[in-house]
Amino acid sequence: MLPNDFPDDIKPFLAPSTGGDMGYDCLVCGARHAPDQLLYTCPACGGILLLTDKKLDRLKEKPGSFWRRLFDHRLMLNLPALKGVFTFHEFLAPNVPLSDVIYLGEGHTPVVKAPPALANLVGANFYVKMEGQNPSASFKDRGMAAALSMLNHLVRVKNLGQVIAVCASTGDTSASAALYASSLGKSVKSAVILPQGKVTPQQLSQPLGAGAAVFELPGVFDDSMKVVERLSEKYQVALLNSKNPWRVLGQESYAYEVAQRFDYSLRDKVLIVPVGNAGNITAILSGLLKFHRASVIDGLPKIVAVQSNRANPVFLYYRQPVAARSYSPVTVRPSVAQAAMIGDPVSFPRLADLSKAYEERAGVSSFFAVEVDETAIMEGMLQANRHGLSICTQGGECLAALRAALAEGLITPSETAVLDSTAHALKFMDFQNAYFEGRLAKEYGVATKPELANRPRSVDLGQAPIPGQGKTMTAAEREAFVSTAALAIAESLGLSEKA
Ligand SMILES: *Cc1c(COP(=O)(O)O)cnc(C)c1O
Ligand SMILES: [Zn+2]
Repeated sequence: MLPNDFPDDIKPFLAPSTGGDMGYDCLVCGARHAPDQLLYTCPACGGILLLTDKKLDRLKEKPGSFWRRLFDHRLMLNLPALKGVFTFHEFLAPNVPLSDVIYLGEGHTPVVKAPPALANLVGANFYVKMEGQNPSASFKDRGMAAALSMLNHLVRVKNLGQVIAVCASTGDTSASAALYASSLGKSVKSAVILPQGKVTPQQLSQPLGAGAAVFELPGVFDDSMKVVERLSEKYQVALLNSKNPWRVLGQESYAYEVAQRFDYSLRDKVLIVPVGNAGNITAILSGLLKFHRASVIDGLPKIVAVQSNRANPVFLYYRQPVAARSYSPVTVRPSVAQAAMIGDPVSFPRLADLSKAYEERAGVSSFFAVEVDETAIMEGMLQANRHGLSICTQGGECLAALRAALAEGLITPSETAVLDSTAHALKFMDFQNAYFEGRLAKEYGVATKPELANRPRSVDLGQAPIPGQGKTMTAAEREAFVSTAALAIAESLGLSEKA
């Protein structure tokens, strides 16, 4: 739709100029630092940072109905900078000028209703938000779009020359960082550090394809993360891990989109979110709180944090009585929800703060954690895939959590769950293949159900001629091959001949 064709009350606000009063807040010492620099930890005390807008209250000067109308109209505006997470510019990172925004097709992922057969199997209606349909096939692109837009902005206004951007990753952060950095040409070069053998081959191929410098280190994600932290302390690098608070801002867009998708009515909804480094869930809580404070939504959904029982520090924290909660990292064991296989989440302090604020606003038990086992995660993924929803293992983890929470009475079938399939199923197909081939039992402790497994069927061609490379078949040979193969397949499928 052309700008002139929008309603007169919307027109002046379609393309926002910069605004707000962004700054880094230290969650430990409370210091506030200017936003026009790249910070990952507090220069005063080393604490973790959150970006906040001191002028957030300006958004309350307009009624919620104004924002709803504006955001819904913005979807029809063909301006690349506003096509992705920056649709929600005013709430997200209002200091970034639209001219510096990088848009590669992220955000506004489909929210798909579970087909009736799957809803029946699970015992409740639910939806899945398909985050695998982002440019690098995971939700990480939301955060990278914000972080790289900000970096792009700083490179320009501060004349930074070439920046080396680094991250450690369970696979998807590096895929996303490498892709977004590569879109900036020479000004940003990315380097990614991966735990050897702990990312899938698809995830390893992504940063390689994007031209990043890729390093593999022994150990798990937490070990690689320590090395990246050392690099960012000692050297001039831009850190793209979730310590980078700009990423949290970009990931808030998930919450805004869910609100928009359900016509800003979230009171009876339950958002189920897999937790690894706790950046995603932090962002979702933060986004929902911002929308609620500005009356864009009038009710808050329940939030369920889900972890595998093999990487469950967040679950263990929240399952203690409120007054006695204490946090300790865990040593992870192999999990098929590999992208969330983190024993010491970097964003835990942010999550602890925000979940408290969330519960104060939305009521006790509006936020809780669930743990699930590996068998349930795999079955969640496979069952969904068998019912029209192609979801990743972390999506399977959400499905398992929905079942567990229903069984425990933490949610009821009258509520509507929204599951976060955080990545594309294809990134995690090796786990499906291993399940089908009966190879998951040992390391992952998955009990395999034969009825859920599937393997290619062999076709018995007997003595029939077989097509081969560089071989020309006679018409008679081809006919013999085709009729033998068709008969074998028809018998395997139990087909009856046409009358
Ligand atoms: C990163 C990631 C997670 C975990 O998200 P956090 O923000 O680290 O908690 C879950 N699923 C996928 C596919 C991921 O890439
Ligand atoms: Zn501090």
